[in-house]
Amino acid sequence: MYPTDTIVAPATAAGTGAVAIVRLSGPKAIEILKKLWRPAATGKITPRRVHVGEVIDPDTGAGLDRAIAFFMTAPRTLTGEDVAELQVHGGPYLVRRVVSLAVRYGARIAERGEFTRRAFLNGRMDLTEAEAVADLVEARGEAALRQALAHLSGALAHKVRGLRDQVIAVRAHLEAEIDFSDEDIALPSRRQIAAEIERVIGDVAVLHDSFARGRIAREGARAAIIGKPNAGKSSLLNLLIGTDRAIVTDIPGTTRDVIEDAIQAGPYQLTILDTAGLREGRDEVERIGIERTRRSAAEADLLVAVFDASRPLDSDDAMIIELSRDRAGIAVMNKSDLPPRIGAETLREAGITMPIAAISALKGDGIEGLREELARAVEAMAGPGMETEIAISRERHRDSLARALAALQAAHDSTLRSMPPEIVAVDIAAAADALAAITGDVSSEDVLDRIFSEFCIGK
Ligand code: GDP
Repeated sequence: MYPTDTIVAPATAAGTGAVAIVRLSGPKAIEILKKLWRPAATGKITPRRVHVGEVIDPDTGAGLDRAIAFFMTAPRTLTGEDVAELQVHGGPYLVRRVVSLAVRYGARIAERGEFTRRAFLNGRMDLTEAEAVADLVEARGEAALRQALAHLSGALAHKVRGLRDQVIAVRAHLEAEIDFSDEDIALPSRRQIAAEIERVIGDVAVLHDSFARGRIAREGARAAIIGKPNAGKSSLLNLLIGTDRAIVTDIPGTTRDVIEDAIQAGPYQLTILDTAGLREGRDEVERIGIERTRRSAAEADLLVAVFDASRPLDSDDAMIIELSRDRAGIAVMNKSDLPPRIGAETLREAGITMPIAAISALKGDGIEGLREELARAVEAMAGPGMETEIAISRERHRDSLARALAALQAAHDSTLRSMPPEIVAVDIAAAADALAAITGDVSSEDVLDRIFSEFCIGK
């Protein structure tokens, strides 16, 4: 299971750049570095120091590039193995040349995420920390960044291991019952054990439910712009994202595909989807568009319901109002530059409960206020406590916690039904394992393959 070969990969993005880093990890890393690179000054090269020198082709001794090198010896390194890095000029040919030389002298090209996977296998980080490395790279906003950093510091692992300790404490009480039930010593009663399990269930459930905001911090929220044809949805999207991606026309029903783009809403990323005009259409293409609108409205976290304030509400608007019922989001009264036919009170009377913003998508009036409302809506959704409370951020975490909860619930039920402690202990052990899977204290190759395949090569 523990790798013994040496891997190599560019650690910087493909393409041309000022500098590219080629990273090596494994038992031959330092040996290969010393073959491919020679220091500018004579004297000893030492670990954890940066040295200037030259990359060479060892076959001919010819110089290829001026380059910086450094190396670290195991085990206190990124991967837990010997690690060496070369900083060369960032040209794709040069990088390929250096990597292939490293391969010629005994390294193998790394798989996706293999450096981080080795760090995990060598105990340098747990799985939540490894995932946080990917999250940090992918962070597109302040909230995502802060959450990734918290996870990288081990805060989520600490929390999960704390819950596992609680579960193990229950198991210790059950084992006491198994071992000492014939003896005349005071053991925790069934009610006490059930109460203990209930407390753990409560704590696990809190972490499980934190997925709603953890997901929004990591991936951002999704808002669907809905409204009847010509209400100004595409114009609004263009204004929000600052480009002309959505096609604006005055022929009703022309935005038939869902167009999406992301903006910043406070510290969060907000992906905005412009859907096909919602209308009780007869024609087949339009009907498909309507279906799509319903679906994206159902899948979105927030709705931006757009109304044309220069016209009275009609049956198309009624459908939008119906879709917006009990949903989070914002109602937008567009076309404020034209003489108004409806006001905020009209929308309230029609059943809109979301905050209402008046704008002109054509002139840009009210757009800043709308942006603030959107940020507030996302923040309300992410909930309080984002700053201080640890939240899970991945479905993998949530599914493991759900498994732990199911096992704990089963243990609780059999405790109350006075089942033998051995039976209860099986469920308790399953709950502990489900929690251990989150940190990778218990893991399988399949799970690791899935996690690290999301990484890029060189990470
Ligand atoms: P959609 O079908 O809901 O996507 O609407 P569009 O964004 O394509 O806009 C439909 C028509 O309304 C276009 O001619 C836009 O120029 C016009 N329009 C959009 N917003 C405004 C606005 O705020 N004021 C005025 N006067 N016209 C607008």
